Amino acid sequence: MRLPKGNSLLKPMTGGYYRVAMQNFREAIEAGASGEELAAMPIPESYRAAFVRRDEADMFEGVESWDKDPRKSIHVDDVPTPELAPDEVFVANMASSINFNTVWTSIFEPLPTFGFLDRMARDGEWGARHALDHHVIGSDGSGVVLRVGSAVRNWKPGDRVNIHCNYVDDQDPTAHNDSMKASNQKIWGFETNFGGLADLAVVKANQLMPKPAHLSWEESAVNALCASTSYRMLVSEHAGQMKQGDSVLIWGATGGLGGYATQLVLNGGGTPVGVVSSPEKAQLLNEMGCEAVIDRKAEDYKFWSDPHTQDESEWRRFGKTIRGLIGEDPNIIFEHPGRQTMGASVFAVARGGKVVTCAATSGYMIEYDNRHLWMKLKSIVSSHFANYAEAYAMNKLIDQGAIQPIMSAVHTLDDCGEAALQVHHNKHEGKLGVLCLANEKGQGITDPEKRERIGEDKITMFQRHAASIA
Ligand code: NAP
Repeated sequence: MRLPKGNSLLKPMTGGYYRVAMQNFREAIEAGASGEELAAMPIPESYRAAFVRRDEADMFEGVESWDKDPRKSIHVDDVPTPELAPDEVFVANMASSINFNTVWTSIFEPLPTFGFLDRMARDGEWGARHALDHHVIGSDGSGVVLRVGSAVRNWKPGDRVNIHCNYVDDQDPTAHNDSMKASNQKIWGFETNFGGLADLAVVKANQLMPKPAHLSWEESAVNALCASTSYRMLVSEHAGQMKQGDSVLIWGATGGLGGYATQLVLNGGGTPVGVVSSPEKAQLLNEMGCEAVIDRKAEDYKFWSDPHTQDESEWRRFGKTIRGLIGEDPNIIFEHPGRQTMGASVFAVARGGKVVTCAATSGYMIEYDNRHLWMKLKSIVSSHFANYAEAYAMNKLIDQGAIQPIMSAVHTLDDCGEAALQVHHNKHEGKLGVLCLANEKGQGITDPEKRERIGEDKITMFQRHAASIA
């Protein structure tokens, strides 16, 4: 391979030169550099990243949640490259995505994330690196391994990877049954520093998974956090344990979590009932193969008659609509809106059924009528991201083309504050991709035949739908 022009990496690295060094990696990857060649190129001392600042953590004091603007708090600039721990790798991070945790970090709710980073400082020398005055955010990534620490066995420079966000210390015994139950479990790029909205990702080797060869960098990068969370919630023995024939009500069925949940139910032989908030999203659900759809806006449910009182007659109306669509109460309800919907979810799930919850976007102090829970032997099951095995299993389904990426649009890293605002204000569908080191959409596909076999239409359904309503 001929290294791209301007690759005289012996020059002193100052200012913009760091960026040139990262761009050299991109050009080398695009030119088909081998792992050995990538390993011989120097890692720059700083890299471009999106971050929030400790000294701005109170910038939105007195501002309503809705008005807190991620464009003001997210900065994109050069940050110093940390030293690589023995169990870590550097990844040339071609793309990432916006997750709701990016929104939480950028509006400093419910807490500024610097508290998580400071706690890491108690985990010894390598943990202490994270407690900085800037927090590099982002919990998804897709790219190419550049360096591996001395304790890494299964990955090498040149490997094309997806990154999942479960960050665990494998020397802790509590991490060895289900690592999501490990006492030191954290979410990368939210509870740790050096996250994925950056040109360089610093991750533990046990966060890596093979990148599906038929997807572009950004199509690949949008999946791991939301898809793996949905997998654990529905499929895993640790949560939903969905069976063939189960009916599953999915809140936000074209959103980040819901877009994968809908596909998992269809792929697993179940019947999804998708709840969305517009005719356009309802149409997208139909295109995905979900026939039972509720437009919550058109139905105008008022589960809360005032901020302190829920209206059981509205729960009943909701339950009746579901029965009218599928002829039964759902075996599983896929919950994440939280306070606004939990009462209705507990009411509407079938006798003996499960409400599986992983979040509380509209408020975490939950109220429901316990009589409906115990008298009808229902359960509320908690779920949080996914362990390595679950994330890997989900990655395999995407690799096989059984589950598609749900990317509706792509932003640049410099524009990721705007992308976070769109997610904050629920203006998006599915996932928003972010180009990091990749400078164009559509790069990184190494198996076009497989892509053709799986079907361009299926892979790009959310993008085409978003373009058609723009
Ligand atoms: P998202 O892309 O914004 O999708 C959520 C969807 O939920 C929205 O598009 C909206 O769909 C619906 N929704 C929002 N507020 C609602 C309300 N008050 N009532 C009914 N529906 C409502 O977000 P996401 O990525 O799916 O994440 C959803 C939540 O899960 C966030 O709070 C996030 O932090 C959390 N999360 C947790 C984990 C975990 O591991 N624990 C992982 C991922 C995400 P419609 O408007 O179309 O109805």
